[in-house]
Amino acid sequence: MESFDELLRLAEAAHGHLCAGQILGVRMALLGLNRLGITDPRGADRKRFVTSVEIDRCATDAISVVTGCRLGKRALKFRDWGKMAATFVEVATGRGIRVVAHEDSRALADDLYRHLETKRERQMNAYRELPDAQLFREQWVRVALEPADLPGGPGERIKCARCGEGVNFGRFAFIDGEQVCLSCASPESRYWEPIAPEN
Ligand SMILES: [Zn+2]
Ligand SMILES: [Zn+2]
Repeated sequence: MESFDELLRLAEAAHGHLCAGQILGVRMALLGLNRLGITDPRGADRKRFVTSVEIDRCATDAISVVTGCRLGKRALKFRDWGKMAATFVEVATGRGIRVVAHEDSRALADDLYRHLETKRERQMNAYRELPDAQLFREQWVRVALEPADLPGGPGERIKCARCGEGVNFGRFAFIDGEQVCLSCASPESRYWEPIAPEN
């Protein structure tokens, strides 16, 4: 695998800027991959694991770059929990390592690097230099991966009996004997509502 600095450059290019989150994300991904024994995540090992992320912040982009796990490959899972955490899961066993950034790591950066002028510099140096144990909590977890969660083909495709929209990967429910998409099955879960009457 590339060196830390090479990975950071790749992350910077993909994300659009260099920030503390890129450094943190590269560190989280390297730690997770190391624990799973994955050395070639974007090559020979690319089908061995998937990654779940729990926040839509800078670090998530870096995690995607280092792991090669992307939403469009169904290898990146997003749980919108607002936590600086990611879980790297071995597909064959469902065993995963969940890595969480310590909540006090910002305060630690301010404390240890107080000679540096800006918060950004303090965080970037801390996230680059401190050992994993000072930055992260790790836990082994079990993740129930369904066939529909795994990278691969589109799976079964149905047409929703109510809205007529096509649905892949078994994301439908049976209601009154009909195959219905999840947004018709539970309209309260929709993230949108129509602003004009449907025609
Ligand atoms: Zn950023
Ligand atoms: Zn529908």
